[in-house]
Amino acid sequence: MFKDKVVLITGGSRGIGKAVALEFAKANANVIINYTASDETANKTINEMQSLNSNGSFEAVKFDVSNYDETEDKIKYIQEKYKKIDILVNNAGITRDSLFMRMKESQWDEVFDVNIKGIFNCTKNVVRSMIKNQYGKIISISSVVGEMGNPGQANYSSTKSAIFGFTKSLAKELGSKNINVNAISPGFIETDITDVLPESIKNKYMEMIPLAKFGSPNDVAKSVLFLASDDSSYITGEILKINGGLYT
Ligand code: NAP
Repeated sequence: MFKDKVVLITGGSRGIGKAVALEFAKANANVIINYTASDETANKTINEMQSLNSNGSFEAVKFDVSNYDETEDKIKYIQEKYKKIDILVNNAGITRDSLFMRMKESQWDEVFDVNIKGIFNCTKNVVRSMIKNQYGKIISISSVVGEMGNPGQANYSSTKSAIFGFTKSLAKELGSKNINVNAISPGFIETDITDVLPESIKNKYMEMIPLAKFGSPNDVAKSVLFLASDDSSYITGEILKINGGLYT
């Protein structure tokens, strides 16, 4: 379905981003995953993609999305090598949880730098070529806590709410260029981010979820592929919620 399409997934080495990468690999896309810390984890994901599709073109490119110059440089490299980026999945995200009274300025800044400035840095550097090609899909990963708030996550949930405004504004700016801009708002998904939660908190969340389970990275990945496909070509500025019924 995505033959000849070039996809960049930020934070594609683990968790939700990895599941998205594997789905695109199966669907014959050229897949570039980005990460910033673990080469080993990224290489493992590349190997898994290759075992799913031996004809595919897959690459891991290391850069910190919060650093504008580094991001510009590496996206330039990707665009020169692959000639374009058709699909950008803004997935890289971090948490630095703390009750607000104890939250340090550094915890606030780090989360904004990766989760929001990172989206600016990546989108800014792909959008010009998308406009030139009159084709593009931009999908950003928000969170249910951006809709409902969460104690200990004033920083993280603010960044996730900001994605809603970003998505809706950019959809209006770029619609006439045949670029779809959407976001996905996952509920609680089983990844390293939720692994660190204490059992008591997990149980509390579980009681709030009508489907009575956390989602899997694959639940999110399938929807990313839908929003990246031409099956959703009349959808833009939308926030797709994947949360087991956890509405606010
Ligand atoms: P995860 O398992 O912690 O994976 C995060 C990914 O981002 C890793 O590949 C990590 O690679 C990369 N990354 C972190 N900082 C980066 C940076 N500065 N530059 C480039 N890459 C960076 O997270 P996840 O749970 O899959 O979450 C993915 C996205 O979904 C995030 O935006 C998160 O907020 C959102 N989300 C998650 C949940 C959930 O329940 N899990 C729910 C709602 C929304 P390295 O460590 O190698 O850098």
